Amino acid sequence: MKDSVKDDILEILIPETDIRTKVGELASRINADYRDKNPVFISVLKGSVIFLSDLMKNVDIRSSLDFIAVSSYEGDTESTGVVKLEMDLRESIEGRHVILVEDIVDTGLTMDYLKHNFMTRRPASFNICALLTKPERTRIKVDIAYKGFEIPDKFVVGYGLDYAECYRNLPFVATLRPEIYRKVK
Ligand code: 5GP
Repeated sequence: MKDSVKDDILEILIPETDIRTKVGELASRINADYRDKNPVFISVLKGSVIFLSDLMKNVDIRSSLDFIAVSSYEGDTESTGVVKLEMDLRESIEGRHVILVEDIVDTGLTMDYLKHNFMTRRPASFNICALLTKPERTRIKVDIAYKGFEIPDKFVVGYGLDYAECYRNLPFVATLRPEIYRKVK
């Protein structure tokens, strides 16, 4: 039976090898910047988990991990513009050096929301590490200390990013054939 998600791909925007190199570079910078700081990586569920796990495997300093879940997309390709906290952190971040790990910063609404939310909890420091950004879509400018790739204004899947909960397992970042959207909706 043929059931490969790769058949639905239109174009690979970022190949696996480029991602691997970039993740290694970001991790090296984090290793240098956070030595002796015991940072906490906070992964924004679910899209950032593949990026997070590759990043953490390349980080060799003492650090910990927590998760948070927010929503703004509700299964479609356009943000609703309203960010909702779905699941909060398990641990306090007061006095901790926080590295927020995100798959993609699109309008910036989610990162802006989380930054303000986290700052009320009085961390020692706060930085964002995002694999992808879409500069053309920016509505709120947020500072991204560790940035992977800038991509054009296209809806992408793979390497953790989904469309209707599918395609997260692709090892690269890609666009989907247009008929796929019609099929799933
Ligand atoms: P923002 O709040 O910056 O507009 O959107 C952030 C969230 O929107 C991301 O965490 C991600 O879940 C979703 N998102 C934005 N652009 C894309 C995209 O091209 N593909 C996928 N799968 N999700 C996206």
